[in-house]
Amino acid sequence: MTDIELAVLKTWQVGPYDDEWVVIVHAETRGQARKMGAGVGYDEFVGMRAIRLPKLDGKLITRQTLTEAGFPETWEGEPLDATGYILDCGCETCKASLREPND
Ligand SMILES: [Zn+2]
Repeated sequence: MTDIELAVLKTWQVGPYDDEWVVIVHAETRGQARKMGAGVGYDEFVGMRAIRLPKLDGKLITRQTLTEAGFPETWEGEPLDATGYILDCGCETCKASLREPND
């Protein structure tokens, strides 16, 4: 591979061990994913858990792809809001996902 930008980044679900929020990020390594998660709130890197979501690799983050990956279709009675999970790590997948209509 000569053009690194063509490489598909791995998809991760990142959130603290002791809380319920998660965000979706794209990173090559688990360490990079945890670092992104730690930048979201006041949580520290050591408290971050990153879980691979291989089903979402190379896919837009939408309600459909999230539910296919096992996310609940509703949360507290509201339909799943894909944009609420997108951290927007700056990658093309996030940018394109945020342009998608979310319904
Ligand atoms: Zn991304």
